[in-house]
Amino acid sequence: MDRKHSLDKLPQDIRSLIYLVRDTAAKKNISAYLVGGFVRDLLLGVENLDLDIVAESDAIGLAGEFARRIGAAEVVRHKRFGTATVRIRPGFKVDTFAAPKPRGKPTPLSINHERSRRIDFSTARKEFYPAPARLPEVSPGNLRDDLFRRDFTINAMAVSIARDSFGRLVDFFGGKADLEQKKIRILHDLSFRDDPTRILRAVRFEQRYNFRIEPGTLRRLKEAVKLKALFDAGPHRLRGELILSLKERSPLKGIKRLSGLAGLQFISPGLKFPAGAQELMRAIAKEIAWFKERYPRRRELDSWLVYCLGLLDPLSLRAVAGVCAKFAFRRGEEKRILDYKKINHKFAADLRKYRQRPSRIFALLEPLAYEVTIAVKAKYRDRPIQEAIADFFEIYNGICIAVGGDDLCRLGLSPGPAYRKIFSKVLSAKLDGRIKSKEEELSLIRQLVKEEQGDV
Ligand code: ATP
Repeated sequence: MDRKHSLDKLPQDIRSLIYLVRDTAAKKNISAYLVGGFVRDLLLGVENLDLDIVAESDAIGLAGEFARRIGAAEVVRHKRFGTATVRIRPGFKVDTFAAPKPRGKPTPLSINHERSRRIDFSTARKEFYPAPARLPEVSPGNLRDDLFRRDFTINAMAVSIARDSFGRLVDFFGGKADLEQKKIRILHDLSFRDDPTRILRAVRFEQRYNFRIEPGTLRRLKEAVKLKALFDAGPHRLRGELILSLKERSPLKGIKRLSGLAGLQFISPGLKFPAGAQELMRAIAKEIAWFKERYPRRRELDSWLVYCLGLLDPLSLRAVAGVCAKFAFRRGEEKRILDYKKINHKFAADLRKYRQRPSRIFALLEPLAYEVTIAVKAKYRDRPIQEAIADFFEIYNGICIAVGGDDLCRLGLSPGPAYRKIFSKVLSAKLDGRIKSKEEELSLIRQLVKEEQGDV
């Protein structure tokens, strides 16, 4: 595989950014490399637009100068870690020079970028884990040290972007051979003990690329599981990795493998992944696809969260509340998780009632996030529920009434809680087809205002 050739195949907007990093690094006399998942996917020919740069000195200075040359960018610096993230606003323009052709002159390149971009810069560092699953002690290091602190050989390669070695692969640990042989391999025996979240990462990459965790690595993984390493890991880091696992294209495969290798008790003591939960996950995948195909313009679903509802489905409300507290899910996420858990047979029976009034379906589903409604649709497969939810998305969810606050004011009602009550009654009447035109809405409102003012 010719490295230069691979970089040349990247979309031009990404290449122009790489050239600009290269030029900036050369000017500052810094050795800079592309690293991590970007390199892995470059070799695999898989699209990955997240640039990850390691500099052998002063990555923060490099990021600052790079951002200055771009213009429309903001830099977030983490001095303690020697890292910086550059966020570039869409519409930015890069003026740089393309890589020189053999024996040719570099050609000036000017590109307007439509998408916003994020580039991570970090100064090469060495890590030392003082105890299993604790945060590492960090000290300055060279490129080799920085690659050695990584999770797997396939993620521990770099590509030089220096002018004189542009595109050269740096592969100290046999990452390229492992990629070719489809193997997930740790870099040293204590890797999973040092950082147990790598157990989730091993499964994630294995399942994503259809690779195999190689036998030595699998043995170490099982040892770490036996030593209950996942129970020692920081819950916030586990949450991050769990969410990434659920964001994969087919989370079911990954969760099944994780459950087989490590169990799911590190999430909640009683959590298992029985056939019923797997079936639910499959149904969730179908419902997400249904929603995306049918409503491409609605708010984008947090698909991972719908899968998370499926994963936690076998647990009691109390256990789920415990999971939310332990992993400190964000408030909006926790609300959706608990809302789903509160959906019970009574709710389902209500929704199911044949010829249910649309206003009732609306009242049941409107307060729920789309993610919860999709999970309910996946769980209750009977026709009345399927139809009620489909009608909700198709018709009721988009309906609004023509009258507004001004109309109520004109009728002499002063703004207050009564407004909401009246609007909701008008909306119910409209949903149930009892009124249609704005005139009919107004006449109903007049009647409701009178009742509100106690005239009737
Ligand atoms: P993805 O395609 O899922 O984004 P990625 O490899 O880019 O995969 P990130 O989580 O963005 O994954 O991490 C970037 C790089 O940082 C990885 O390729 C790996 O080299 C390193 N890395 C991330 N997490 C760990 C970890 N827990 N232990 C060691 N190295 C890690």
